[in-house]
Formats: sequence, C-alpha cells, structure tokens
Amino acid sequence: MAEISRRNFVKLIGAGGAASAMSLTGCAALSREPAKPAPRVVVIGGGFGGATCAKYLRIYDPSLNVTMIEQNANYITCPGTNMVLGGFRKMDDLVQNYNALRGKYGVNVIQDRVTGVDPAKRLVTLSSGKTIEYDRLVMSPGIDFKWNAIEGYDEAASQFMPHAWKAGAQTVLLEKQLRAMPDGGTVIIAPPGMPFRCPPGPPERASLIAHYLKNHKPRSKVLILDVKEQFSKQKLFMDGWNALYPGMIEWVPGSKGGKIQRVDAKGLTVYTDEGMTTHKADVVNIIPPQKAGNIAVSTGLADKAGWCTVNQLTFESNVVPGIHVIGDSATAGAMPKAGHTANNIAKMTAAAIVSIFRGVKPPVPSHVNTCYSLVGPEYGISMAAVYRLGEDGVLAGVKGAGGLSPEDAPSLMRAQEAGYGRGWYDSIVADTFG
Ligand SMILES: Cc1cc2nc3c(=O)[nH]c(=O)nc-3n(C[C@H](O)[C@H](O)[C@H](O)COP(=O)(O)OP(=O)(O)OC[C@H]3O[C@@H](n4cnc5c(N)ncnc54)[C@H](O)[C@@H]3O)c2cc1C
Repeated sequence: MAEISRRNFVKLIGAGGAASAMSLTGCAALSREPAKPAPRVVVIGGGFGGATCAKYLRIYDPSLNVTMIEQNANYITCPGTNMVLGGFRKMDDLVQNYNALRGKYGVNVIQDRVTGVDPAKRLVTLSSGKTIEYDRLVMSPGIDFKWNAIEGYDEAASQFMPHAWKAGAQTVLLEKQLRAMPDGGTVIIAPPGMPFRCPPGPPERASLIAHYLKNHKPRSKVLILDVKEQFSKQKLFMDGWNALYPGMIEWVPGSKGGKIQRVDAKGLTVYTDEGMTTHKADVVNIIPPQKAGNIAVSTGLADKAGWCTVNQLTFESNVVPGIHVIGDSATAGAMPKAGHTANNIAKMTAAAIVSIFRGVKPPVPSHVNTCYSLVGPEYGISMAAVYRLGEDGVLAGVKGAGGLSPEDAPSLMRAQEAGYGRGWYDSIVADTFG
C-alpha cells in the first residue's frame, strides 16, 4: 500500500471534508423543514387509572410527550385498607411511588394540584400558577363526596365519623377509633346507594372489622345500616359471616330501617327512617354518596348525577372533545367502579389515543374485572367478568364469561382465593406503578 504523504492526506481530508460538508448541507436542507413536535398528552391523577394510562401511553408510543399531574408525592391504594382496619396489614405496605413512571417510562410526573382546565385553549392550570398545554387530556381524578346528602354529614363531620373511602388520613383515623373503642361496643357502617367506588368494599370492611373485634373485643357488634336492598356478593358474604362471626354482624336494608336521614357527628348518633330511630355507636363509618372528582365536575364533564359519560370505545368525553375520562369518574356501562376496571380502561384509552394521533381506528376493546374480597384473612371470595361493547356502544358483560366463587366451597378453596387476592394486589400494583 502506497504510503500516504502529508500532502495527499490533506487532500483526502479535504475531499472527505467536502463530502461531509455536502451531506451536512443536505441535512441542513432537510432540517429547514420544521420537525413535527411530539404530541402532548396531559394526565390528571396518578391513581390506578391515571398512572396506568401515562405508563402505557409511553410504552405504546415512546415519542409521545406525556405529563402526569398528581397532587400527592405518593399514592396509597384503597385496596388493602380494609386489612389495615382488620389489624393484619400496615398502611406502609400500601404506599406506591412514581419512580418507575419517571425513570423507566419517561413520564414527566409533576406533583401539583390541577385547579382549572380550559378546553378551548387546551390548557391546564396548576395551583402553583403554572399552565400546561395539551393535545389530548386524560382525567382520572377518582371520586369526591356529595357532602350533606345525609343531613349533618359534611367534611367537618368526617373528622368524627370517618368515611375512610379515600386511603390515607381517614383510614388511620378509623383504625385509631376501632383500637380505642371498648369491648361490647358497636361499630356502624353506612354504605351509599349505587353507583359508588368498590361495591363489595363495605361488606368486606364489615367482615374485617368483625375479624379484629372477634380477636380483641369479642363482645362487640357491627351494624350495617344500608340504604340499599341488596349488596355485592351478598350470599357469599353472609355465609362467611355465619361461619366466622356468628351473631356479630347485622345488616339492615333500606326498607327495614337502614336508611340514615341525619347524623349528629360529635354525638356519634345516627337517625334513620321517617320515625327517626336513633342509633348511638362507639365508631361510625359513614360512606357518603359520591360523584366524579371535583376537577372533572368543574370542567363541565359530569352529568346531573355527578358522573362523566363517555364514548365507551375511546373514553373521550361526550361533552368536551379532546378530554378522555377514565377510572371511577367515568360511567363505563356495566363495569363497576374498581381499580382493576380503571387499570383496564386506562390501557385501552392509551391505545385509543395513540390510534387517534396516527389517524387509524382505535381497537375495539375487551375488558376484564376481577374482584377478590376477604371475609377473613384466610377466607377469600371473588367475582370475575368480561365486558365488550354492545351494538349500542355500551360496555356490557359477556354471558358465560367469569362468574362468582361457588357457594358451597370447602375452606381450602376459600384459603386459596385469599392467596389469589394477595397475588392480584401484587400484580395490579406492578402493572400500574412498576
Ligand atoms: C376500601 C376500598 C377497597 C377497595 N378495594 C378494591 C379492590 O380490592 N379491587 C379493586 O379493583 N378496587 C378496589 N377499590 C376501588 C379502587 O380503589 C378505585 O376504584 C380506584 O382507585 C379508582 O382509580 P382512579 O384512578 O379512578 O382514582 P384514584 O385511584 O382515586 O386516583 C385519583 C388520583 O387523582 C388525584 N387527583 C384528584 N384530583 C386531582 C387534581 N385536581 N390535581 C391533581 N391530582 C388530583 C388524587 O390525588 C388521586 O391520587 C377499593 C376502594 C376502597 C375504598
């Protein structure tokens, strides 16, 4: 090989330099076309719906600019809080963080509270005064309460009669009250009418409070004053109560005096029926009627009943285009308001949004909801269902898919279902936050 002289080397460099200069010129010519900015999706709420949606948007299309705004630094799951009340799980076990969303999936997580949405300008305002623009907005703010739907039960009253229907300080308060009550006392639980967050949650709570009382204050009672005539997984729960806590739990339906008209929160007294039957208790857990999260309501997305109706293919609001409402705030046909539902819908909504940006038809979803409840720490029952869009565009249960735990199951199966419930929790939390 001929030795390259210094002169030739400079020539070669020159030629290469020219070539690269040409290609650079070519690049410069291309880059003069303004690059299309990445579509921006803003997600409000970092719970089961919001966190799942933000994560899956970035999985389905890593080029998207995804910002999630959550008012709290961490998230405490409601699933598991009844076990805390039952005395066999710690609140700390239920705390989730957003490290994976930030680090692994590239979601821009902002800790702040959304105070307003301007759908015309596609702008979100935060309590810090910051504003953020979006091309598509996803709202998953969970629930808020209809204060004073029961006379005397407002936010201040919840400091004496906790609802504990959002995980956190309210759960801790109810737990403290249970620990402090005397043996031989009464705990009242008052579930709301449908629809509300987690329909099997109140009977599960009654069960696990009874579990705690049986072990620590065995002369005590749980009285469920229910505005409804029936409740979720009723026969399975009642069989479990007879087996584990005979005589300890009494359920009173609305027609037989279960409807609370008024409360005296400081006096721990509730009044039912027109005749105003009085019940004084040691602990009172009022779970008030609910509605979509306040930010969804103030944006004008909710109907008269307080919930947000959506196109059940894309979960885009029926009222305001460009905003998708998921999780408990949305009306999702036959699907119950549950964390599993929120997680499922969040993924399909992420797929729908990516499809809309790409100008293709969103996939037609199949959704699943599996709901495990504990009657005791080693006594689990479950319900599973599959949902598809009907011809009317409303999500309906697929006949023959899913079902309830058998009524006459042996104790081994109840223990297995309790174990499956623990597995469900670990996997839904990993899928949402991990
Ligand atoms: C006792 C109990 C037990 C339950 N057990 C189960 C169970 O076993 N299985 C199951 O599937 N489901 C269960 N659920 C139901 C489940 O917790 C909810 O259905 C689920 O959390 C709904 O998810 P979401 O995203 O709609 O709302 P959430 O999970 O409540 O998330 C909403 C988030 O939005 C944030 N937020 C709201 N407004 C703003 C704002 N303006 N700015 C910023 N952030 C905001 C909130 O801080 C919150 O973190 C249970 C519920 C309860 C109460």
